[in-house]
Amino acid sequence: MRADLHTHSDASDGTDPPADVMRRAALAGLDAVALTDHDTVAGHEQARRALNEGDGEVRGLTLVPGMELSCRLDGRSVHLLAYLFDPDHPELAEQTRRIREDRVLRARAMVRRLADLGAAVTWDQVAAIAGTAVVGRPHIARAMAASGVVATPADAFSSEWIADGGRAYVAKYALDPTRAIGLVRAAGGVAVLAHPRAGRTWSVSDQQIAALTAAGLAGVEVFHPDQSSAQRAGLLGLTRDLGLVATGGSDDHGSLTGHRIGCETTAAGAYEALLAQATGARPIRSG
Ligand SMILES: [Zn+2]
Ligand SMILES: [Zn+2]
Repeated sequence: MRADLHTHSDASDGTDPPADVMRRAALAGLDAVALTDHDTVAGHEQARRALNEGDGEVRGLTLVPGMELSCRLDGRSVHLLAYLFDPDHPELAEQTRRIREDRVLRARAMVRRLADLGAAVTWDQVAAIAGTAVVGRPHIARAMAASGVVATPADAFSSEWIADGGRAYVAKYALDPTRAIGLVRAAGGVAVLAHPRAGRTWSVSDQQIAALTAAGLAGVEVFHPDQSSAQRAGLLGLTRDLGLVATGGSDDHGSLTGHRIGCETTAAGAYEALLAQATGARPIRSG
């Protein structure tokens, strides 16, 4: 049983269409994959079609519909993975729509700041790169690299440019994670705290995770490429103490992260424990 519970498609800031993510998941030998684009479920339809109509290469693969919600805790950006919720739940849908709309305003504001700083990037460039996707900083970073402002998109994520707190950084509308967990649960889904120790400058504390657990958090993403073995060991102990499910995922963004789907996975027991708590939607299995 190999389940990668954290991937992105070009419905948000990944580079590959959802159908390609499904094919790569199958090629990587996964049994299950969650599509968890930022603040949108727009990729689910195509992923589902790829499984239903796909040829032999995706046979046996299970799709876990999900989303990665933008949250803010004590002024810091925090990500919440949500799985198997009802995508039509009115309040959850309304809040994600609001986040997406604010992402556009915020991206435009960052482009203006970049222009003020002398970086030759235009909104038209960013919009063309994002296409119909939920716009995010990786799209701006790609425009910056295309214009020669930085050598690679990764170089844009510095304090000089668009990293958290950087000169051209603008915060976006985000949910209080306690509220987000409540919304996900109200929609019949399960909520997992994404990569709590992956940040370069700060991380979610044990106390904060305990408080989120009291609010209904179901799990913590322990196995993530940006978390060290020491951090994983600490989080594993914490999940045991708090009765949380320990999950894993690649956080694959296509070529942006170097195709790495399946590099981190969730244990079978943890996968089953999560699924058992969800009532808002069912996993989709390719027959
Ligand atoms: Zn994240
Ligand atoms: Zn992610």
